[in-house]
Amino acid sequence: MSPNGLDAKTFFEREGGITYNDFILLPGHIDFTLDKIGLETNLTRNIKIKRPVVSSPMDTVTESRMAISMAMLGGIGIIHYNNSIEEQVKEVRRVKRFENGFITEPVVLSPNHTIRDVDTLKETYGFSGIPITEDGTLNSKLIGIVTKRDIDFEENRTKKLKEVMTTQLVTAPAGISLAEGNRILKESKKGKLPLVDKKGRLVSLMSRTDLLKNEDFPFASKNKDKQLLVGAALSTREDDKERLAELVKAGVDIIVIDSSQGDSVFQINTIKYIKQKYPQLDVVGGNVVTAKQCKSLIDAGVDALRIGMGSGSICITQDTLAVGRAQGSAVYHTAKFSKEYANIPVIADGGIANIGHIVKALSLGASTVMMGGLLAGTSESPGEYFYEGGVRVKKYRGMASHEAMEKGGGKRYLSVEDRIKVAQGVTGTVVDKGSAIHLVQYLMQSLLHSLQELGLRNIQELHNGLYEGTLRFEMRSPSAQTEGAVHNLYSFKEPHLGLLRMGR
Ligand code: NAD
Ligand code: IMP
Repeated sequence: MSPNGLDAKTFFEREGGITYNDFILLPGHIDFTLDKIGLETNLTRNIKIKRPVVSSPMDTVTESRMAISMAMLGGIGIIHYNNSIEEQVKEVRRVKRFENGFITEPVVLSPNHTIRDVDTLKETYGFSGIPITEDGTLNSKLIGIVTKRDIDFEENRTKKLKEVMTTQLVTAPAGISLAEGNRILKESKKGKLPLVDKKGRLVSLMSRTDLLKNEDFPFASKNKDKQLLVGAALSTREDDKERLAELVKAGVDIIVIDSSQGDSVFQINTIKYIKQKYPQLDVVGGNVVTAKQCKSLIDAGVDALRIGMGSGSICITQDTLAVGRAQGSAVYHTAKFSKEYANIPVIADGGIANIGHIVKALSLGASTVMMGGLLAGTSESPGEYFYEGGVRVKKYRGMASHEAMEKGGGKRYLSVEDRIKVAQGVTGTVVDKGSAIHLVQYLMQSLLHSLQELGLRNIQELHNGLYEGTLRFEMRSPSAQTEGAVHNLYSFKEPHLGLLRMGR
């Protein structure tokens, strides 16, 4: 037994699949404070982000709300494709249009709507001031605003809004900064601040209740036009070329080709098609777990690779099809090959069940981690909360579960032989984890502490240590794993809701 652990080459280049729980990283020497640590990383060959986190393109994980939060925090979200082209494009556009603190799709009514219409909206969205435009749509001339005060004591609920609305408006020009908008809101003492263009047309809205939430997000992932970055998933089917064209029009930043087994002629043709038609668009290929698969997709032109087959928390691929790989080995071998062969970054996808798994995935050469289950159950994930056995939960399901396949209209089934649908995933529930913003901030702060324990200042140094052999690994016996987790307690309180319960 080596007194200082093993280097990665010795540790991983022997027979047998290894995964995150099987090993531990040995500490390094600390000679810097936490504020000296950076988490910038390559998402793809051409795109850098400040936080190494990606939300998975699953229909219970990533639509625009999740993608907005991920990008604000410095990561990125990938919008799933288990929907119509119009629905997926709408989600992408929502992210591209998002401006922190500005409501870009406010509910709007016309002067001919009635107080009863406001009552209905109040039931659906809770009450807030509603802008009134000439024709009741956004981008039409703003002519008033209806607030609680205007209608509270009005007995005739069929009265038209033009008779009750406030027409003395405080507005601000579209394009002002968040700080400027916040200042005007505070000074005006109004609940809402409509933003209008030069012709007086409503463009967006700011809300007093959001003032406290309007934090700064210094690491936000943005393009040169200051729009948040967003990705979208795409299948390898011929008819998804139309989907691709619409996604490009909507301004999508990366395309993730979503397949459990990426090394196929269908995927290679798709990559070549995208690269030829949209050379500026970055493409993530996958999923792959061997160096040979990586080579196929790198040769076809991918800008990043998504690693993981059978490691997802909802996944039954390894049991059902007997194909896949232990995720630790998969990440180590693919990352090493892709770096040496073409300097292509890899995304460790699936099996990130607790905070420690994030640093472990990065320590094996991944540049980012993709998460499904860990982000499911946050307020930003699609779906409603409900109670199961007294616990507040949300649904989380595999994209190849029977339920998700049915939602997709069985579109993955292309031939007669495919009529019997073999599920590779399950439908389940995960506990309420609160806001993804707070959860990811917590995860990233933990990652800073972790790098400090290792004596490393950034992900580049982590990867250098991995390949130079200074990063040291040690196997954990099953009892070492038990010892490393909370044990021998009658009960305990989790530091962050739902996090410790995962990975068990
Ligand atoms: P897929 O679309 O890649 O494959 C479905 C079937 O269609 C396969 O038999 C494939 O060979 C075939 N196919 C694809 N394109 C074709 C074309 N152009 N012509 C003819 N046949 C074609 O999807 P999948 O692998 O079933 O994955 C579905 C979803 O489930 C994805 O979201 C995926 O991420 C997820 N999943 C992931 C894993 C994992 O371990 N990462 C495992 C299983 C499922
Ligand atoms: P998790 O973060 O461990 O929950 O894993 C999420 C990952 O599982 C996704 O990013 C996909 O790669 C994979 N996945 C999604 N749906 C399925 C499925 O139905 N079966 C197997 N794997 C899936």
